[in-house]
Amino acid sequence: MLARIDLRGSTPTLAELRRALPRGGTDVNAVLDTVTPVVHAVAESGSSAALDFGEKFDGVRPASVRVPAQVIADALANLDPQVADALRESIARARKVHADQRRETTRTQVVDGGVVSEKWIPVRRVGLYVPGGNAVYPSSVIMNVVPAQEAGVGSLVVASPPQKDFGGWPHPTILAACALLGVDEVWAVGGAQGVALLAYGGVDTGAADEPNAVLDPVDLITGPGNIYVTAAKRLCRSVVGIDSEAGPTEIAILADDSADPGILASDLISQAEHDVLAASVLVTDSAELADAVDIALDAQVATTKHRERVTTALAGEQSGIVLVDDLEAGLAVVDAYAAEHLEIQTRDAATVADRVHNAGAIFVGPYAPVSLGDYCAGSNHVLPTSGSARFASGLSVQTFLKGVHVIDYDEAALREVADKVVTLADAEDLPGHGDAVKQRFLGSVTS
Ligand code: NAD
Repeated sequence: MLARIDLRGSTPTLAELRRALPRGGTDVNAVLDTVTPVVHAVAESGSSAALDFGEKFDGVRPASVRVPAQVIADALANLDPQVADALRESIARARKVHADQRRETTRTQVVDGGVVSEKWIPVRRVGLYVPGGNAVYPSSVIMNVVPAQEAGVGSLVVASPPQKDFGGWPHPTILAACALLGVDEVWAVGGAQGVALLAYGGVDTGAADEPNAVLDPVDLITGPGNIYVTAAKRLCRSVVGIDSEAGPTEIAILADDSADPGILASDLISQAEHDVLAASVLVTDSAELADAVDIALDAQVATTKHRERVTTALAGEQSGIVLVDDLEAGLAVVDAYAAEHLEIQTRDAATVADRVHNAGAIFVGPYAPVSLGDYCAGSNHVLPTSGSARFASGLSVQTFLKGVHVIDYDEAALREVADKVVTLADAEDLPGHGDAVKQRFLGSVTS
């Protein structure tokens, strides 16, 4: 049974609401002591240190950091055809959506002879972290690689932990997904050492087919990972860009008495299945629905495969049922919570969804479960967690683009505004700035 938070009959302030809502979280600071020496050692010694830490934490040392091309080709050749087919479908749908996110250069004629354009330039080289500790996530390969490719990123490397059971290479399904996407550079390195090697680069002394191959550092690291990966991303962000510090996954469902309790229970379980820290939250104005969901949960949890993990996640302080007076109050709750995934299971769900302000992604009605978004909706599943959906977006083509202003003014256009620039420079006590303009029109601008 989920914990109940009963907000009926109360009108909490936003601060009170945020405090009242269930939310767990992980303390990244707690592992900084473990991760800092790993990052420093890899920054100093490159791949040899990364391989040493891999041996320590993953229990295996691959023959090289870079996975040989033949190993990747074999993984695809041996992939279950049904899985290959499903991955191809997922890739095609993700491509369709992400291709529409591409941005054109904007060109603004500010004055005659004065133009400011904004160009969108892809990041030069990107490192995509694909987790590989407790589970295999080929879907994460797709969700990271597709937007990067659609943004026009020229150089991509995927890093994923070496696996004892597969000769020290990353999981074959991950390698096969890379092959399907046309990614040929994959590194068998994970955890904090993987993030540090992406950030600092090195030389692949163990590379069998290409001795001393260069492991070129990247400019941006994206992708989810555990607490060690997150801590390393935080430590490396002075030398490399990162997408976000992802916390444990979350689902919130806003439902009224028209919702099917069996569906709600299965969707809450599907998120709890990820992690003991995962959050499953139901917000409803129907106490009867809340009771029915509890009963459905009891029945479904009993037969679900990852029963222990699911039970722990549902019993955690991060999960619960929030009872509200009406849908209006429910909308205030989901906006304050800002869930990574928000399902709307109410009458006229599309209209209700339209009014939501804060969510990483919104799933409308009974036929758009979060699992669809995880794999095959075409949307991205790397989404802002821990309430950061109040100000952040999920992974997209935009993540891999940099907006660059190009300023093109001719002499007359600069002359027209020169005295304003000098005035503002003087107001900021930066006369050198004004002089840089005056120098161009010697004698024609009075100070
Ligand atoms: P991971 O690849 O993130 O981490 C495994 C690595 O952690 C290992 O290679 C090892 O080097 C390191 N490690 C393990 N124990 C360590 C220790 N004691 N000290 C130092 N390093 C250690 O894989 P994971 O552990 O399975 O975690 C994956 C995470 O990613 C999960 O929390 C999952 O929920 C999340 N995830 C999120 C999304 C998303 O889109 N938000 C998608 C997939 C996975």
